[in-house]
Amino acid sequence: MRHFAVVGSGPAGFYTAEALAKAYGDAAKIDIIDRYPVPYGLIRFGVAPDHQALKAVAKRYDKVAEAAGVGFIGNVCVGTDATVDELLEHYDAVILAIGAPHDRKLGIPGEELSGVIGSAEFVGWYNGHPDFADLDPPLGGAHAAVIGNGNVALDCARILSKTRAEFEGSDIVGHALEALGKSAIKTITILGRRGPHQIAMTPKELGELAHLEAALPLVDLADFPPQEADEALEPGQRKSVTILRDFANIRANRPKSLVFDFFAKPLSIEGDGHAERLIVERTELDDKGGARGTGETYEIPASLVITCIGYSTPPIAGVPYDERGGKFLNENGRIADRLYCVGWARRGPTGTIGTNRPDGYEVAEQVAAAMPAGSSGDRPGGEGLKRLLAERGVKATDFTDWRRIEAAEEAAARAGSPREKMVRVEEWLRAVGR
Ligand code: NAP
Repeated sequence: MRHFAVVGSGPAGFYTAEALAKAYGDAAKIDIIDRYPVPYGLIRFGVAPDHQALKAVAKRYDKVAEAAGVGFIGNVCVGTDATVDELLEHYDAVILAIGAPHDRKLGIPGEELSGVIGSAEFVGWYNGHPDFADLDPPLGGAHAAVIGNGNVALDCARILSKTRAEFEGSDIVGHALEALGKSAIKTITILGRRGPHQIAMTPKELGELAHLEAALPLVDLADFPPQEADEALEPGQRKSVTILRDFANIRANRPKSLVFDFFAKPLSIEGDGHAERLIVERTELDDKGGARGTGETYEIPASLVITCIGYSTPPIAGVPYDERGGKFLNENGRIADRLYCVGWARRGPTGTIGTNRPDGYEVAEQVAAAMPAGSSGDRPGGEGLKRLLAERGVKATDFTDWRRIEAAEEAAARAGSPREKMVRVEEWLRAVGR
Protein backbone atom coordinates (compact mmCIF):
# COMPACT_ATOMS: atom_id res chain seq x y z
CA MET A 1 0.00 0.00 0.00
CA ARG A 2 1.16 3.55 -0.81
CA HIS A 3 -0.01 6.67 0.99
CA PHE A 4 -0.17 10.06 -0.72
CA ALA A 5 -1.05 13.49 0.63
CA VAL A 6 -2.34 16.15 -1.74
CA VAL A 7 -2.34 19.50 0.03
CA GLY A 8 -5.07 21.77 -1.33
CA SER A 9 -8.52 20.84 -2.63
CA GLY A 10 -8.85 23.21 -5.56
CA PRO A 11 -8.69 22.09 -9.20
CA ALA A 12 -4.97 21.23 -9.12
CA GLY A 13 -5.39 19.10 -6.00
CA PHE A 14 -8.43 17.25 -7.26
CA TYR A 15 -6.97 16.49 -10.71
CA THR A 16 -3.80 15.17 -9.05
CA ALA A 17 -5.81 12.98 -6.68
CA GLU A 18 -7.88 11.73 -9.63
CA ALA A 19 -4.71 10.86 -11.57
CA LEU A 20 -3.12 9.10 -8.59
CA ALA A 21 -6.31 7.12 -7.94
CA LYS A 22 -6.35 6.00 -11.59
CA ALA A 23 -2.67 5.12 -11.60
CA TYR A 24 -2.72 3.09 -8.36
CA GLY A 25 -6.27 1.74 -8.10
CA ASP A 26 -6.72 0.15 -4.70
CA ALA A 27 -2.96 0.00 -4.11
CA ALA A 28 -2.88 3.54 -2.70
CA LYS A 29 -4.69 5.72 -0.22
CA ILE A 30 -4.86 9.39 -1.13
CA ASP A 31 -5.73 12.12 1.33
CA ILE A 32 -6.72 15.56 0.07
CA ILE A 33 -5.88 17.96 2.88
CA ASP A 34 -7.29 21.50 3.04
CA ARG A 35 -6.78 24.47 5.30
CA TYR A 36 -10.54 25.04 5.42
CA PRO A 37 -13.20 22.60 6.63
CA VAL A 38 -14.78 22.72 3.14
CA PRO A 39 -13.30 21.63 -0.19
CA TYR A 40 -12.83 23.11 -3.70
CA GLY A 41 -10.47 26.06 -3.11
CA LEU A 42 -10.57 28.27 -6.20
CA ILE A 43 -13.87 26.81 -7.36
CA ARG A 44 -15.62 27.89 -4.17
CA PHE A 45 -13.64 31.02 -3.29
CA GLY A 46 -12.29 32.29 -6.64
CA VAL A 47 -14.61 31.50 -9.55
CA ALA A 48 -17.21 34.27 -9.86
CA PRO A 49 -20.59 33.53 -8.22
CA ASP A 50 -22.40 34.46 -11.44
CA HIS A 51 -20.39 31.84 -13.37
CA GLN A 52 -22.22 28.78 -12.02
CA ALA A 53 -21.46 26.73 -15.13
CA LEU A 54 -17.74 26.93 -14.27
CA LYS A 55 -18.41 26.03 -10.65
CA ALA A 56 -20.26 22.88 -11.76
CA VAL A 57 -16.88 21.17 -12.22
CA ALA A 58 -17.02 20.53 -8.46
CA LYS A 59 -19.50 17.71 -9.21
CA ARG A 60 -16.69 15.90 -10.98
CA TYR A 61 -14.43 16.46 -7.98
CA ASP A 62 -17.09 14.94 -5.71
CA LYS A 63 -16.72 11.67 -7.61
CA VAL A 64 -12.99 11.71 -6.91
CA ALA A 65 -13.48 12.46 -3.22
CA GLU A 66 -15.98 9.63 -2.91
CA ALA A 67 -13.86 7.06 -4.75
CA ALA A 68 -12.51 4.19 -2.68
CA GLY A 69 -9.14 5.03 -1.18
CA VAL A 70 -9.57 8.81 -1.43
CA GLY A 71 -10.19 10.86 1.71
CA PHE A 72 -10.67 14.53 2.58
CA ILE A 73 -9.04 15.99 5.69
CA GLY A 74 -10.24 19.58 6.14
CA ASN A 75 -9.46 22.35 8.63
CA VAL A 76 -5.77 21.46 8.66
CA CYS A 77 -3.22 24.17 7.90
CA VAL A 78 -0.04 22.58 6.59
CA GLY A 79 2.91 24.49 8.01
CA THR A 80 1.04 25.22 11.27
CA ASP A 81 -1.09 22.24 12.34
CA ALA A 82 1.36 19.79 10.74
CA THR A 83 4.65 20.54 9.01
CA VAL A 84 5.62 19.35 5.54
CA ASP A 85 8.31 17.20 7.18
CA GLU A 86 5.66 15.53 9.34
CA LEU A 87 3.56 14.86 6.24
CA LEU A 88 6.61 13.31 4.59
CA GLU A 89 7.03 11.03 7.63
CA HIS A 90 3.42 9.85 7.25
CA TYR A 91 3.08 9.68 3.46
CA ASP A 92 5.14 8.20 0.62
CA ALA A 93 4.77 11.43 -1.37
CA VAL A 94 3.36 14.88 -0.67
CA ILE A 95 1.99 17.04 -3.48
CA LEU A 96 1.47 20.73 -2.72
CA ALA A 97 -1.55 22.14 -4.56
CA ILE A 98 -2.10 25.22 -2.44
CA GLY A 99 -2.72 27.63 -5.30
CA ALA A 100 -1.74 31.29 -5.20
CA PRO A 101 -4.09 33.00 -2.77
CA HIS A 102 -2.01 36.11 -2.00
CA ASP A 103 -2.28 39.38 -3.94
CA ARG A 104 0.80 40.70 -5.66
CA LYS A 105 1.52 44.29 -4.72
CA LEU A 106 1.81 47.26 -7.06
CA GLY A 107 4.62 48.66 -4.93
CA ILE A 108 3.52 52.28 -5.29
CA PRO A 109 2.98 54.99 -2.65
CA GLY A 110 -0.50 55.02 -1.13
CA GLU A 111 -1.12 51.31 -1.64
CA GLU A 112 -1.59 50.93 2.13
CA LEU A 113 -4.47 53.47 2.25
CA SER A 114 -7.85 52.16 3.26
CA GLY A 115 -10.01 51.63 0.20
CA VAL A 116 -7.14 49.98 -1.71
CA ILE A 117 -7.74 46.25 -1.79
CA GLY A 118 -6.37 43.30 -3.68
CA SER A 119 -8.56 41.15 -5.90
CA ALA A 120 -8.04 38.11 -3.64
CA GLU A 121 -9.64 40.13 -0.84
CA PHE A 122 -12.49 41.54 -2.92
CA VAL A 123 -13.22 38.23 -4.66
CA GLY A 124 -12.94 36.45 -1.30
CA TRP A 125 -15.44 38.89 0.20
CA TYR A 126 -18.17 38.32 -2.39
CA ASN A 127 -17.44 34.58 -2.52
CA GLY A 128 -17.67 33.99 1.24
CA HIS A 129 -14.00 33.37 2.04
CA PRO A 130 -13.70 33.35 5.84
CA ASP A 131 -10.59 35.59 5.82
CA PHE A 132 -12.49 38.37 4.04
CA ALA A 133 -16.03 38.14 5.43
CA ASP A 134 -15.45 41.42 7.32
CA LEU A 135 -13.72 43.30 4.49
CA ASP A 136 -16.54 45.82 4.06
CA PRO A 137 -15.16 47.45 0.89
CA PRO A 138 -16.03 51.15 0.57
CA LEU A 139 -18.88 51.37 -1.96
CA GLY A 140 -20.15 54.82 -0.97
CA GLY A 141 -18.17 56.86 -3.53
CA ALA A 142 -19.14 57.40 -7.15
CA HIS A 143 -15.91 56.18 -8.69
CA ALA A 144 -13.93 52.93 -8.43
CA ALA A 145 -10.74 51.90 -10.20
CA VAL A 146 -9.85 48.35 -11.16
CA ILE A 147 -6.16 47.89 -12.02
CA GLY A 148 -5.19 45.16 -14.47
CA ASN A 149 -6.37 43.88 -17.83
CA GLY A 150 -6.93 40.20 -17.07
CA ASN A 151 -10.04 38.11 -16.41
CA VAL A 152 -9.92 38.83 -12.69
CA ALA A 153 -10.21 42.56 -13.42
CA LEU A 154 -13.26 41.74 -15.56
CA ASP A 155 -14.78 39.69 -12.73
CA CYS A 156 -14.31 42.52 -10.22
CA ALA A 157 -15.63 45.22 -12.57
CA ARG A 158 -18.65 43.12 -13.57
CA ILE A 159 -19.57 42.25 -9.98
CA LEU A 160 -19.32 45.95 -9.02
CA SER A 161 -21.67 46.92 -11.82
CA LYS A 162 -24.38 44.26 -11.68
CA THR A 163 -27.90 44.88 -10.44
CA ARG A 164 -29.51 42.68 -7.80
CA ALA A 165 -31.64 41.01 -10.49
CA GLU A 166 -28.48 40.09 -12.42
CA PHE A 167 -27.27 38.07 -9.44
CA GLU A 168 -30.27 35.79 -9.62
CA GLY A 169 -29.13 32.17 -9.83
CA SER A 170 -25.70 33.06 -8.47
CA ASP A 171 -24.31 32.06 -5.08
CA ILE A 172 -22.94 35.49 -4.19
CA VAL A 173 -23.01 35.65 -0.40
CA GLY A 174 -25.79 37.60 1.30
CA HIS A 175 -23.49 40.22 2.87
CA ALA A 176 -22.04 41.14 -0.55
CA LEU A 177 -25.43 41.16 -2.27
CA GLU A 178 -26.79 43.58 0.34
CA ALA A 179 -23.74 45.87 0.25
CA LEU A 180 -23.57 45.95 -3.56
CA GLY A 181 -27.29 46.72 -3.68
CA LYS A 182 -26.58 49.95 -1.77
CA SER A 183 -23.44 50.84 -3.76
CA ALA A 184 -23.17 54.42 -5.05
CA ILE A 185 -20.51 53.54 -7.63
CA LYS A 186 -21.38 54.89 -11.07
CA THR A 187 -18.04 54.83 -12.89
CA ILE A 188 -15.58 51.97 -12.85
CA THR A 189 -12.30 52.68 -14.61
CA ILE A 190 -10.39 49.59 -15.74
CA LEU A 191 -6.72 50.48 -16.12
CA GLY A 192 -4.32 48.63 -18.38
CA ARG A 193 -0.67 49.61 -18.36
CA ARG A 194 -0.45 48.54 -22.01
CA GLY A 195 -2.89 48.66 -24.94
CA PRO A 196 -5.92 46.83 -26.34
CA HIS A 197 -3.73 44.30 -28.18
CA GLN A 198 -2.04 43.34 -24.90
CA ILE A 199 -5.14 42.52 -22.85
CA ALA A 200 -5.27 39.18 -21.03
CA MET A 201 -9.09 39.03 -21.16
CA THR A 202 -10.82 36.15 -22.93
CA PRO A 203 -13.70 36.63 -25.40
CA LYS A 204 -16.52 35.05 -23.42
CA GLU A 205 -15.70 37.00 -20.26
CA LEU A 206 -15.23 40.27 -22.15
CA GLY A 207 -18.40 39.75 -24.20
CA GLU A 208 -20.52 39.65 -21.04
CA LEU A 209 -19.93 43.36 -20.50
CA ALA A 210 -21.91 44.24 -23.62
CA HIS A 211 -25.06 42.79 -22.07
CA LEU A 212 -25.02 44.26 -18.59
CA GLU A 213 -28.31 45.70 -17.45
CA ALA A 214 -27.06 48.89 -15.83
CA ALA A 215 -23.50 49.43 -17.05
CA LEU A 216 -22.09 50.42 -20.41
CA PRO A 217 -18.53 49.44 -21.41
CA LEU A 218 -16.72 52.43 -22.94
CA VAL A 219 -13.59 52.38 -25.09
CA ASP A 220 -11.77 55.13 -26.95
CA LEU A 221 -11.00 53.88 -30.45
CA ALA A 222 -8.06 56.28 -30.57
CA ASP A 223 -6.29 53.87 -28.20
CA PHE A 224 -6.45 51.08 -30.79
CA PRO A 225 -3.96 50.36 -33.55
CA PRO A 226 -5.41 50.39 -37.10
CA GLN A 227 -7.91 47.54 -37.52
CA GLU A 228 -5.66 45.73 -40.06
CA ALA A 229 -3.15 45.18 -37.27
CA ASP A 230 -5.65 42.81 -35.57
CA GLU A 231 -4.93 40.27 -38.34
CA ALA A 232 -1.57 39.51 -36.77
CA LEU A 233 -3.15 38.50 -33.43
CA GLU A 234 -3.78 34.87 -32.60
CA PRO A 235 -7.48 34.00 -33.11
CA GLY A 236 -8.60 34.14 -29.46
CA GLN A 237 -6.92 37.49 -28.89
CA ARG A 238 -8.32 38.83 -32.17
CA LYS A 239 -11.79 37.88 -31.00
CA SER A 240 -11.27 39.69 -27.69
CA VAL A 241 -9.99 42.82 -29.44
CA THR A 242 -12.95 42.75 -31.85
CA ILE A 243 -15.34 42.59 -28.90
CA LEU A 244 -13.52 45.54 -27.33
CA ARG A 245 -13.77 47.57 -30.53
CA ASP A 246 -17.47 46.74 -30.81
CA PHE A 247 -18.13 48.29 -27.42
CA ALA A 248 -17.79 51.62 -29.22
CA ASN A 249 -20.90 50.76 -31.28
CA ILE A 250 -23.25 49.95 -28.41
CA ARG A 251 -26.06 52.47 -28.47
CA ALA A 252 -27.69 52.29 -25.07
CA ASN A 253 -28.35 54.46 -22.08
CA ARG A 254 -27.19 52.81 -18.90
CA PRO A 255 -26.63 54.60 -15.59
CA LYS A 256 -23.17 53.13 -14.89
CA SER A 257 -19.99 53.14 -16.99
CA LEU A 258 -17.10 50.71 -17.29
CA VAL A 259 -14.35 52.88 -18.75
CA PHE A 260 -11.37 51.14 -20.34
CA ASP A 261 -8.32 53.32 -19.76
CA PHE A 262 -5.42 51.88 -21.75
CA PHE A 263 -1.76 52.91 -21.59
CA ALA A 264 -2.35 53.90 -17.98
CA LYS A 265 0.27 53.10 -15.36
CA PRO A 266 -0.61 53.85 -11.72
CA LEU A 267 2.11 55.94 -10.05
CA SER A 268 0.53 56.53 -6.65
CA ILE A 269 -2.70 56.55 -4.73
CA GLU A 270 -3.56 59.68 -2.78
CA GLY A 271 -6.13 60.67 -0.19
CA ASP A 272 -6.64 61.88 3.32
CA GLY A 273 -6.38 58.61 5.28
CA HIS A 274 -8.25 56.72 2.58
CA ALA A 275 -8.06 56.42 -1.19
CA GLU A 276 -9.48 59.40 -3.08
CA ARG A 277 -7.57 59.44 -6.36
CA LEU A 278 -5.06 57.60 -8.48
CA ILE A 279 -2.15 59.39 -10.08
CA VAL A 280 -1.52 57.76 -13.42
CA GLU A 281 1.16 58.09 -16.08
CA ARG A 282 0.32 57.73 -19.74
CA THR A 283 2.45 55.02 -21.35
CA GLU A 284 3.35 53.84 -24.81
CA LEU A 285 4.65 50.52 -26.05
CA ASP A 286 8.42 50.12 -26.21
CA ASP A 287 10.26 48.01 -28.79
CA LYS A 288 9.71 44.83 -26.76
CA GLY A 289 6.00 45.44 -26.26
CA GLY A 290 6.47 46.65 -22.67
CA ALA A 291 4.96 49.80 -21.14
CA ARG A 292 7.17 52.91 -21.22
CA GLY A 293 6.13 56.03 -19.34
CA THR A 294 5.65 59.19 -21.42
CA GLY A 295 5.96 61.60 -18.51
CA GLU A 296 2.36 62.79 -18.97
CA THR A 297 0.39 62.30 -15.75
CA TYR A 298 -3.26 62.72 -14.79
CA GLU A 299 -5.69 61.90 -11.98
CA ILE A 300 -8.55 59.44 -11.72
CA PRO A 301 -10.93 59.89 -8.79
CA ALA A 302 -11.46 56.61 -6.91
CA SER A 303 -12.51 55.88 -3.35
CA LEU A 304 -12.23 52.17 -4.06
CA VAL A 305 -9.17 50.77 -5.84
CA ILE A 306 -9.00 47.06 -6.59
CA THR A 307 -5.67 45.70 -7.80
CA CYS A 308 -6.03 42.70 -10.12
CA ILE A 309 -2.42 42.21 -11.09
CA GLY A 310 -1.77 38.58 -10.22
CA TYR A 311 -1.18 36.36 -7.22
CA SER A 312 1.53 34.50 -5.35
CA THR A 313 1.79 31.26 -3.41
CA PRO A 314 2.63 31.71 0.27
CA PRO A 315 5.92 30.12 1.29
CA ILE A 316 5.82 27.13 3.65
CA ALA A 317 8.64 26.65 6.16
CA GLY A 318 11.28 24.28 4.83
CA VAL A 319 10.02 24.22 1.23
CA PRO A 320 12.34 25.88 -1.34
CA TYR A 321 10.67 29.00 -2.66
CA ASP A 322 11.06 31.13 -5.80
CA GLU A 323 10.65 34.70 -4.48
CA ARG A 324 10.52 36.29 -7.92
CA GLY A 325 8.02 33.86 -9.35
CA GLY A 326 5.95 33.74 -6.15
CA LYS A 327 5.79 29.93 -6.28
CA PHE A 328 7.69 26.88 -5.06
CA LEU A 329 11.10 26.21 -6.59
CA ASN A 330 10.53 23.12 -8.68
CA GLU A 331 11.60 21.26 -11.75
CA ASN A 332 8.56 20.10 -13.71
CA GLY A 333 6.67 19.86 -10.46
CA ARG A 334 9.36 18.10 -8.45
CA ILE A 335 10.59 20.09 -5.45
CA ALA A 336 12.65 17.44 -3.65
CA ASP A 337 12.65 13.71 -3.00
CA ARG A 338 8.97 12.66 -2.50
CA LEU A 339 7.84 16.32 -2.49
CA TYR A 340 6.02 17.81 -5.51
CA CYS A 341 3.85 20.77 -6.44
CA VAL A 342 1.09 21.27 -9.00
CA GLY A 343 -1.14 24.03 -10.33
CA TRP A 344 -0.46 27.68 -9.54
CA ALA A 345 1.95 26.68 -6.74
CA ARG A 346 4.03 25.05 -9.48
CA ARG A 347 3.53 27.32 -12.52
CA GLY A 348 2.43 30.65 -11.13
CA PRO A 349 -1.07 32.15 -11.46
CA THR A 350 -1.90 31.56 -15.11
CA GLY A 351 -4.23 29.33 -17.08
CA THR A 352 -7.79 28.15 -16.75
CA ILE A 353 -9.25 25.49 -14.45
CA GLY A 354 -8.68 22.88 -17.16
CA THR A 355 -4.96 23.71 -17.40
CA ASN A 356 -4.56 22.00 -14.05
CA ARG A 357 -5.66 18.63 -15.38
CA PRO A 358 -2.61 17.79 -17.52
CA ASP A 359 -0.48 19.39 -14.83
CA GLY A 360 -1.84 17.07 -12.11
CA TYR A 361 -1.65 14.03 -14.38
CA GLU A 362 1.97 14.76 -15.27
CA VAL A 363 3.03 14.97 -11.65
CA ALA A 364 1.06 11.82 -10.80
CA GLU A 365 3.02 10.06 -13.57
CA GLN A 366 6.29 11.18 -12.00
CA VAL A 367 5.16 9.83 -8.63
CA ALA A 368 4.16 6.53 -10.25
CA ALA A 369 7.51 6.33 -12.03
CA ALA A 370 9.37 6.81 -8.72
CA MET A 371 7.10 4.42 -6.80
CA PRO A 372 5.57 1.95 -9.26
CA ALA A 373 2.10 0.62 -8.46
CA GLY A 374 2.64 -2.70 -6.72
CA SER A 375 5.59 -1.46 -4.68
CA SER A 376 4.80 -0.72 -1.09
CA GLY A 377 5.99 1.49 1.73
CA ASP A 378 5.64 1.29 5.49
CA ARG A 379 4.39 4.76 6.33
CA PRO A 380 1.27 5.14 8.46
CA GLY A 381 -0.64 7.44 6.07
CA GLY A 382 -3.80 9.30 7.02
CA GLU A 383 -4.60 7.25 10.11
CA GLY A 384 -1.28 8.30 11.65
CA LEU A 385 -1.76 11.92 10.63
CA LYS A 386 -5.26 12.02 12.10
CA ARG A 387 -3.91 10.68 15.42
CA LEU A 388 -1.27 13.43 15.45
CA LEU A 389 -3.86 16.10 14.63
CA ALA A 390 -6.21 14.83 17.35
CA GLU A 391 -3.37 15.01 19.90
CA ARG A 392 -2.88 18.64 18.87
CA GLY A 393 -6.57 19.44 19.25
CA VAL A 394 -7.08 20.09 15.52
CA LYS A 395 -10.74 19.62 14.60
CA ALA A 396 -10.29 17.95 11.24
CA THR A 397 -13.30 17.46 8.96
CA ASP A 398 -13.97 14.73 6.39
CA PHE A 399 -16.04 14.53 3.21
CA THR A 400 -19.13 13.34 5.09
CA ASP A 401 -18.88 16.51 7.18
CA TRP A 402 -18.68 18.53 3.96
CA ARG A 403 -21.82 16.84 2.63
CA ARG A 404 -23.65 17.91 5.81
CA ILE A 405 -22.38 21.49 5.46
CA GLU A 406 -23.35 21.46 1.79
CA ALA A 407 -26.89 20.32 2.66
CA ALA A 408 -27.18 23.07 5.29
CA GLU A 409 -25.96 25.69 2.82
CA GLU A 410 -28.41 24.48 0.18
CA ALA A 411 -31.27 24.53 2.69
CA ALA A 412 -30.42 28.15 3.59
CA ALA A 413 -30.34 29.35 -0.06
CA ARG A 414 -32.43 32.39 -1.00
CA ALA A 415 -34.97 31.75 -3.78
CA GLY A 416 -33.25 30.96 -7.09
CA SER A 417 -29.78 30.57 -5.57
CA PRO A 418 -28.01 27.21 -5.27
CA ARG A 419 -26.75 27.89 -1.73
CA GLU A 420 -26.15 30.46 0.95
CA LYS A 421 -22.56 29.91 1.98
CA MET A 422 -21.50 29.94 5.58
CA VAL A 423 -18.62 32.36 5.80
CA ARG A 424 -16.91 31.55 9.08
CA VAL A 425 -14.83 28.55 10.11
CA GLU A 426 -16.76 28.32 13.41
CA GLU A 427 -20.06 28.17 11.49
CA TRP A 428 -18.84 25.23 9.41
CA LEU A 429 -17.57 23.42 12.49
CA ARG A 430 -20.78 24.09 14.41
CA ALA A 431 -22.79 22.65 11.50
CA VAL A 432 -20.98 19.33 12.01
CA GLY A 433 -21.07 19.37 15.78
CA ARG A 434 -17.46 20.33 16.56
P1 NAP B 1 -3.50 37.89 -15.66
O1 NAP B 1 -4.33 37.30 -16.72
O2 NAP B 1 -2.06 37.54 -15.58
O3 NAP B 1 -3.64 39.49 -15.76
C1 NAP B 1 -2.93 40.34 -14.92
C2 NAP B 1 -3.03 41.75 -15.44
O4 NAP B 1 -2.38 42.60 -14.49
C3 NAP B 1 -2.35 41.98 -16.78
O5 NAP B 1 -3.14 42.83 -17.57
C4 NAP B 1 -1.03 42.68 -16.36
O6 NAP B 1 -0.54 43.56 -17.33
C5 NAP B 1 -1.51 43.46 -15.19
N1 NAP B 1 -0.42 43.88 -14.30
C6 NAP B 1 0.51 43.08 -13.71
N2 NAP B 1 1.34 43.83 -12.96
C7 NAP B 1 0.92 45.11 -13.08
C8 NAP B 1 1.37 46.34 -12.55
N3 NAP B 1 2.41 46.38 -11.73
N4 NAP B 1 0.71 47.46 -12.89
C9 NAP B 1 -0.36 47.43 -13.72
N5 NAP B 1 -0.84 46.29 -14.25
C10 NAP B 1 -0.20 45.13 -13.93
O7 NAP B 1 -4.06 37.55 -14.19
P2 NAP B 1 -5.51 37.46 -13.55
O8 NAP B 1 -6.47 38.38 -14.16
O9 NAP B 1 -5.24 37.53 -12.10
O10 NAP B 1 -5.97 35.98 -13.90
C11 NAP B 1 -5.21 34.84 -13.46
C12 NAP B 1 -5.55 33.63 -14.31
O11 NAP B 1 -6.87 33.18 -14.00
C13 NAP B 1 -5.54 33.94 -15.80
O12 NAP B 1 -5.03 32.85 -16.49
C14 NAP B 1 -7.01 34.16 -16.10
O13 NAP B 1 -7.36 33.95 -17.44
C15 NAP B 1 -7.65 33.13 -15.19
N6 NAP B 1 -9.04 33.50 -14.91
C16 NAP B 1 -9.99 33.00 -15.72
C17 NAP B 1 -11.31 33.35 -15.54
C18 NAP B 1 -12.37 32.79 -16.46
O14 NAP B 1 -12.05 31.98 -17.30
N7 NAP B 1 -13.61 33.17 -16.33
C19 NAP B 1 -11.67 34.23 -14.52
C20 NAP B 1 -10.68 34.75 -13.71
C21 NAP B 1 -9.35 34.38 -13.91
P3 NAP B 1 0.66 43.13 -18.32
O15 NAP B 1 0.07 42.22 -19.32
O16 NAP B 1 1.14 44.43 -18.86
O17 NAP B 1 1.69 42.43 -17.43
